[in-house]
Amino acid sequence: MDPGPGALTNMCQIGYDLRKTDAVVVSHCHPDHYSDAASVIEGMTYGGWVKRGSFYGTKSVIEGHGKLGPCMSQYHLGIEENVSVIAPGDELEICGVRTSIKRADHSDPCNVGFMFHTENGIFSYVSDTAYSDDIADQYTGTRVLFLPVTTPDDKRIKYHMCTEDAVRFVERIRPELTVFIHLGIVILKHDADAQARMTQDSTGCKVIAGRDLMRIHIGKDSVNIEQLIADKPEWNDAWNLPEEE
Ligand SMILES: [Zn+2]
Ligand SMILES: [Zn+2]
Repeated sequence: MDPGPGALTNMCQIGYDLRKTDAVVVSHCHPDHYSDAASVIEGMTYGGWVKRGSFYGTKSVIEGHGKLGPCMSQYHLGIEENVSVIAPGDELEICGVRTSIKRADHSDPCNVGFMFHTENGIFSYVSDTAYSDDIADQYTGTRVLFLPVTTPDDKRIKYHMCTEDAVRFVERIRPELTVFIHLGIVILKHDADAQARMTQDSTGCKVIAGRDLMRIHIGKDSVNIEQLIADKPEWNDAWNLPEEE
């Protein structure tokens, strides 16, 4: 899902064989969600030699919408067995898992979120969106929630969520585990773990900040977190931004 910058490199690091991938999903037409998608498709199709796998993307991704996209080439769409345009309200099966497609409120108006109904309950991937009660309520019943929290505290940037929004989201859904993803440079610098803890303290629900190469096992009775490879630095002084006025 949403193979953005570094996806391929991360897969190499954990020895993940792309030929075992059966489907690629891209939620919207922003490069942090699609930049490695063509490379992943190359792997899935044995470099284009074997026509296989499925691709799911929104209209902006596959056909283009206004000034956005398309972001996948005809060639890469053509080497897959199935290509499907997805939109809010769709119910489909992705690799045998029933998937509900949800609305988002984002600068790519085609963007969508996902609820995956597994035999061990529902996990949801909420793609980029501004907060509203209506957006959050779509995910009722979620056991593990992957929530894009781009900025800390109440430092809202348009069409994205900050920690204050995350608190409201988690309060409404009350998942067994919430994982902050899509962490922006400011929240990383200001301690994403502390922002997750604040959300946990004010909601009473377990909340963590996601890390690269983290694996979440969703079992029948428990959810376990595993770090596949020792932490890479989340923040490095070399990435410091110029001082603000
Ligand atoms: Zn986006
Ligand atoms: Zn994004």
